[in-house]
Amino acid sequence: MLERRRGERRPLPKKLAFVLGIRPDVIRAAFVLRHLRSYPEIDVTFIWSGQHYSDNLKDVFFRELQVTPAEVDLGCRGETDAEIAAAVISRLHDALQEISPEAVVFLGDTNTTTGCIAAAQLNIPIVHIEGGMRSYDWRMPEEKYRTIIDHLADVIYVYFDEYRDQAIREGINPDNVVVVGNPIVDVLDLHYFSGQRRFAALSTAEFFSSRGLQRRGYLLMTCHRRENVHEEKSLQAILDLAAASPLPVYFPASYRTQKVLRELGVQWPASLRIVDPVGYDECLSLMVNSRGVLTDSGTVVEEACILGIPSVQLRRSTERPQVYDVGSSVKFDPSAPQRYRPSTVYRKLAGLFGKKWDHPFGDGKASQRIAEDLRRRLATDGLQRHRKQDYRIPVERSYREDGLADPLGPMEGAP
Ligand code: UDP
Repeated sequence: MLERRRGERRPLPKKLAFVLGIRPDVIRAAFVLRHLRSYPEIDVTFIWSGQHYSDNLKDVFFRELQVTPAEVDLGCRGETDAEIAAAVISRLHDALQEISPEAVVFLGDTNTTTGCIAAAQLNIPIVHIEGGMRSYDWRMPEEKYRTIIDHLADVIYVYFDEYRDQAIREGINPDNVVVVGNPIVDVLDLHYFSGQRRFAALSTAEFFSSRGLQRRGYLLMTCHRRENVHEEKSLQAILDLAAASPLPVYFPASYRTQKVLRELGVQWPASLRIVDPVGYDECLSLMVNSRGVLTDSGTVVEEACILGIPSVQLRRSTERPQVYDVGSSVKFDPSAPQRYRPSTVYRKLAGLFGKKWDHPFGDGKASQRIAEDLRRRLATDGLQRHRKQDYRIPVERSYREDGLADPLGPMEGAP
């Protein structure tokens, strides 16, 4: 396609849709989006599904990470996962039909990524960032979503070789998988490590006293996963663990977790301070000044590992075992608490405080790699990857001819 401008013939920018919908999506994709938007030959439409919509789960992250807000907000809400996913698929379908992009980019494993079904229905190539991760724990809705999107995707960006291997073991075409490193390293490099003075200015004595905390004298907790929050026994095990903490526990709790706690009428100890979710700068300040983190969040265990803060993973299984490889994290399985005595967990956690480890998450260039690879593929029309010739397995049998002779003799040009 060509357009005339001051006598020049310049190609029109290639259209790319980028779909996100929850807090950690903004964090992880911030620099990928920034790179993509800086390319004049790409016209990015950032679409927000609407899964998260309050200021402290969405807009504060746009502001702090300087992400230009989405051009389109689908406003998808719902009480159940099915309602949200249904809204994402149908509204994204209409939006994509109107935009008609060359490809649609998704990140992660949330209800928002079920929008890939709308892209597939429209035969628009699908790009999946954060592919190949598996916990092999089918209780998790995320495990099902990432399996679906990886198998529909034309291009999959995975963080490490082991995720590539996992995808290939499931029969995914190795040619579709690109290993890039984890963009959370880029985010912490560019937002936290290069902004240390700003963070030092934020973490004043008043910052801690107003929250009833002492610097280095508390644990930070986050907990939101379905298999923890919606399983009463697991939730109770997590509260019991928090209650046994030798230090106060500061817990910015997701609204869903708060709702379940209210509905169940569970009591929690005074040493557990439950507050609303906080912005990114506040969360990082709380993390780096804590003595450790208790979390079931994928992103938080990675961040803690990179920031040199020990963590307890409140999970039976994880798609991020690397934190155990480098010894930055202690395991606590909320579904089998009898196997993890709180005193042992806290002794192990205390033993990690002040220890050094090399984080295994990459070199801080993942966002750039993803953006440059997409730019190259858009320039060469290299995004559609589900054609007959793309399969690495024998597919001839599906495309074979019927083998029957025409009683009138062979037709000219017939196969
Ligand atoms: N986070 C935040 N405020 C909070 C809790 C978490 O800014 O109150 C950040 C945290 O630092 C991490 C991300 O949000 O970057 C994690 O989000 P979440 O746990 O919801 O998602 P997950 O990583 O499990 O997908």
